[in-house]
Amino acid sequence: MHELSLAQAVVGTVADAAVANGAARVSLVRLRVGMLSGVVCSALEFAFDVAADGTAAEGARLEIEALPVVVHCPTCGTDGALAELTRFRCPACGTPTAEVVQGRELEIASIEVVVAEEATP
Ligand SMILES: [Zn+2]
Repeated sequence: MHELSLAQAVVGTVADAAVANGAARVSLVRLRVGMLSGVVCSALEFAFDVAADGTAAEGARLEIEALPVVVHCPTCGTDGALAELTRFRCPACGTPTAEVVQGRELEIASIEVVVAEEATP
């Protein structure tokens, strides 16, 4: 599975972002994952914990928002979410379509960080 390499990429990105912003660690990572991305969310959650170990993202919570697959219909122009992934048809008029406008995403929506407490002299 490719979840571990994805998780490592996410951890690297958020840990770098935290350090670049002077934060001590990452407390929460929100991902948007399209249902056509091929990512197994439970596997990604597990891989994230493994990849985050020993980084600024260690112990961070991971929230995954699953995005439905949206197709564009060439006949009636509707952008509609598919009810089932085995049936690529316009939800409005039934025309077969493979024009996917959403569903392949894997992106970091936002992160929350903990800023380092200032050392007392
Ligand atoms: Zn249509």
